[in-house]
Amino acid sequence: MIRYGQGIFAVDAEYLRAGMAAIHLVVEKGRVALVDAGTSHSVPLVLGALGELGLARENVEFVILTHVHLDHAGGAGAMMAAFPNARLVVHPRGARHMIDPGKLIEGASAVYGADEVRKLYGEILPVPADRVVEATHQLELDLAGRKLVCLDTPGHAKHHICVVDTQTGHVFTGDTFGICLRELDWEGKQFVFPTTTPVQFDPAAMHASIDLVMSYQPDAVYLTHFGQVREVAAKAAELHRLIDAQVAVALQEAEADPGRHSRIKEGLARLLINAIRAHGTDLSDEQLRALLAVDLELNAQGLGVWLDSRAR
Ligand SMILES: [Zn+2]
Repeated sequence: MIRYGQGIFAVDAEYLRAGMAAIHLVVEKGRVALVDAGTSHSVPLVLGALGELGLARENVEFVILTHVHLDHAGGAGAMMAAFPNARLVVHPRGARHMIDPGKLIEGASAVYGADEVRKLYGEILPVPADRVVEATHQLELDLAGRKLVCLDTPGHAKHHICVVDTQTGHVFTGDTFGICLRELDWEGKQFVFPTTTPVQFDPAAMHASIDLVMSYQPDAVYLTHFGQVREVAAKAAELHRLIDAQVAVALQEAEADPGRHSRIKEGLARLLINAIRAHGTDLSDEQLRALLAVDLELNAQGLGVWLDSRAR
């Protein structure tokens, strides 16, 4: 468990590998809100963290999902079973998928296969409808007097919210503020890059959502992938630049046929490796390509879906 101070903690969900996906905790007067739920396999890790804090499972009031992609929401049903007093907070567009996760399981199984989905996420349990709170824009949650405000932040997905902690001014950004890998930290500085994964990437909406987050002038944001990011204004500028650059790569290869996907992927690899070199790193190109492999594949897929959606 990482302790950031001011009642904010991160637990590693241990999705795929350490340092990949975080579950953040906000603790106020013994009451707990989780931001994102990892997978069903993450439940004992959260229970362990609560134990370290001297808190019981009954103390969890909110399980807040930034969106319903399964690395964030796969564990929601299992968390709700583990935390009897919790309510699930989720974007109105995501709520029905948590009450009946059949579509999500089907979608993931089509991509990865049913066995792999079970291995990755464990059993994906439905959440009783009467425990679901739809997070409309500006909805305020009251965590023992500490107000948490939900923001509608499309761009990565149409069912994405960010959460402002009004006590610190910090914002939990899910995937809206990109990805920040600890392996890319250099001389105390962090590197962020946007995620354009399928199937709802929308560059204009992502720019606007980043601006909305920045309108709160946060000193820190918390990314599900992974943890606290500081010097937020500089990171936002870099994200805006890289969103446009990634879109430019996609547009440049839009007519490539065959091989559009692999050309976009290669273009993204070069773009990110150049940006990481400018930031500073002692990793080789091969090491960077290995580290970024999953994100390059998914980002290229998402840009492909975006190109096709524009054509229609
Ligand atoms: Zn994610």
